[in-house]
Amino acid sequence: MDVYGLLGNPVGHSLSPPMHEAAYDELGLEARYATFEPEEDDIGDAIRGADALGIAGLNVTIPFKQAVLEIVAPEDLATRIGAVNTIDFAGSGPPTGYNTDAVGALRALREHDIALEGEQAVVVGAGGAGRAIAFGLADAGATVAIANRTESKARDLAAAVPRATGHGLAALEQLLADADVLVNATSVGMDADATPVPEDALHGGLAVLDAVYSPLETRLLRDAADAGATTVDGAWMLLYQGVEAFEIWTGQDAPVDVMNEALRSRL
Ligand code: NAP
Repeated sequence: MDVYGLLGNPVGHSLSPPMHEAAYDELGLEARYATFEPEEDDIGDAIRGADALGIAGLNVTIPFKQAVLEIVAPEDLATRIGAVNTIDFAGSGPPTGYNTDAVGALRALREHDIALEGEQAVVVGAGGAGRAIAFGLADAGATVAIANRTESKARDLAAAVPRATGHGLAALEQLLADADVLVNATSVGMDADATPVPEDALHGGLAVLDAVYSPLETRLLRDAADAGATTVDGAWMLLYQGVEAFEIWTGQDAPVDVMNEALRSRL
């Protein structure tokens, strides 16, 4: 029996257990996916304990994504993003840390036939998701403009991301006029029917991904659809970060449709 899981605090409402267990059932794998809520100070002990117990893989969420970077051997992309959300315990050395949020966003866009190479992308938000998505888009060959409520955070992030520029939210109308791809990586739209992007700035030449997945249809995605833009909801990003983790851990192609159904039936 292989044991996988999620480390975070809180993790009670996570959709990862049903998504991963649906994949194990589909492929006949003897595996389980559990959730763990260590205290913040105990994260090092938790990971060393998991390693000692033979746990096969862990996802990591708030508030541990940054602290874990110091405990595992991070891949290059996770190091640049400054956060780990997937740990693989295979092998005899220290566990490897990955950031599959970046890949999740890229796969969500690509699976919807949205080109990235040479395109102009705007990322709204410079928190954890914004960092991952900005590095991912730049690695995929897009030119990235980052706009954030706290402008200094956008500028600091832009200084680390190749070819990127940093702005306040007031620059969004101008930035979007020539943009091909827009990603909302703020939490705006989650708790209220609100959007960080002025409706008038949206246009039919845009592809819009909202990282917010609850609700699935955010105000931003409604406005974008009204403007004739292509829309991709946040469940696609959540799905593909999980798909990527599954494939890292098992070395097998994930049963994407089954995982998608398990996820969407709970949203
Ligand atoms: P975070 O690190 O706390 O960052 C929050 C971001 O939202 C910051 O850029 C913050 O700007 C901005 N923000 C918050 N309230 C705002 C407001 N009222 N107006 C304008 N900007 C505001 O959070 P995170 O981990 O990046 O997560 C952001 C969102 O992405 C959440 O909704 C999360 O659920 C979602 N997410 C989705 C996936 C997925 O797989 N679909 C993965 C990761 C995250 P300041 O810097 O100015 O505070």
